[in-house]
Amino acid sequence: IICNKEDVIKAIETNNVKFIRLQFTDIQGVVKDVEIPVTQIEKALTTGISFDGSSIEGFVRIDESDMVLKPDIKTFAILPWSKDKGGVARIICDIEMPDGSQFKADPRYVLKKVMKEAEKMGFSLNVGPELEFFLFEKVDGKATTIPHDYGTYFEFAPTDLAEDIRREIVLTLTDLNFDIEASHHEVAFGQHEIDFKYGDALTTADNVMTFKYVTRTIAKLHGLHATFMPKPIASENGSGMHVNLSLSKGEENAFYDPDGEMEISDTTKQFIAGVLKHIKAISCISNPLVNSYKRLIPGYEAPVYITWSGANRSSLIRIPSARGKSTRVELRSPDPSCNPYLTFAAILAAGLDGIKNKIDPGKMMDYNVFDLTKQERVERGIETLPSTINESADYLEKNELLKETLGAHVHDNILRIARAEWDAYRTQVHDWEIQRYLNTI
Ligand code: ADP
Ligand code: GLU
Ligand code: MG
Ligand code: MG
Repeated sequence: IICNKEDVIKAIETNNVKFIRLQFTDIQGVVKDVEIPVTQIEKALTTGISFDGSSIEGFVRIDESDMVLKPDIKTFAILPWSKDKGGVARIICDIEMPDGSQFKADPRYVLKKVMKEAEKMGFSLNVGPELEFFLFEKVDGKATTIPHDYGTYFEFAPTDLAEDIRREIVLTLTDLNFDIEASHHEVAFGQHEIDFKYGDALTTADNVMTFKYVTRTIAKLHGLHATFMPKPIASENGSGMHVNLSLSKGEENAFYDPDGEMEISDTTKQFIAGVLKHIKAISCISNPLVNSYKRLIPGYEAPVYITWSGANRSSLIRIPSARGKSTRVELRSPDPSCNPYLTFAAILAAGLDGIKNKIDPGKMMDYNVFDLTKQERVERGIETLPSTINESADYLEKNELLKETLGAHVHDNILRIARAEWDAYRTQVHDWEIQRYLNTI
């Protein structure tokens, strides 16, 4: 375990590390990095390394562009590939302004701020995400949507061609301190899932970023393309990132109450109520692409209606059957294209809002919501998730809690990016329109 500067220097020496990648994540959830030779490590760990923030989407204007990367020593890890020319390590960084103050739009900072808020109420959030992804063939070096195999859920070799690749991803992640719980073929052709153990929200958000580039890198080493695009193939399941959530209070799981109804606490119900209340606005963060909304349709195991339930997987939020330490709620709408820091921050803020205001989540739906008619849904007051990024942006724009949580800078930039994404999409003429109208109209 790396705790201080001396540990870092020692790890660099023992592993013959020659380069260090300083990493951070932009507002859109894209990992950025600058590589420094090992000679610069002393400087990086003391004063930090400056960079031009104006070139990063959603960061700062050109006239205030000098920013500083401050390595978070605990995230030091040796990247297990590319050892041939000396080792490469990475450190995830916080971002500071030249005057040493925190950069308010750094997604890590936004998450830490809400975690502090939770701490003041005596809580800490545990997050366990389930990332799904596709492995596609490459033709002439270019990614296609041809699935790498024709396996399906829990398929086993020989139809599942990816077991060696998944195992290599698992081994690489294990080298990077992940505690892997399971890995399996998912429902769609070429689709997979690897689950790792939950942790505190910040470590887990860091892990999500690492998970994505490790998966892409290992796939590339096998001549394949890994993608976390939410819905690459219209007629197949998309890729979600279900988020398992629980609150700890000291040593206790605050969601577990052996005497409560269903053995869950009132805190759990209030947390769920807060998330349900804000989910339409959260969607703009947890489902940030035009493509995200093509996943959230009936028929593909992804949620559409704003309901909560016991173990029923048709609901937006379900409570898996495990109790005791593993008591948790699972939010099923987020997809792996989101920025995990901002997504966890928004979910936590919404859950805390539910607890502070003792909100009631309403009736649980313990039947398949997709079997209801529209009329029955209206009678039961069941609402629907936004159906486009533009609609989510409308909700986020009005949401005061999330504006406060994200800070005006991030809030404005997410909205700007979402609207631009929508405009770029709606001003295209798509192939579907040509097929449908050209000959008949
Ligand atoms: P599913 O039943 O939806 O397939 P999985 O078993 O694949 O769920 O994933 C469970 C996830 O929940 C794992 O990441 C696991 O570490 C996480 N988890 C387990 N207990 C907790 C908890 N108390 N709080 C948050 N996450 C938890
Ligand atoms: N792939 C589905 C989704 O889009 C989820 C399947 C599952 O339950 O694991 O969320
Ligand atoms: Mg899954
Ligand atoms: Mg799940």
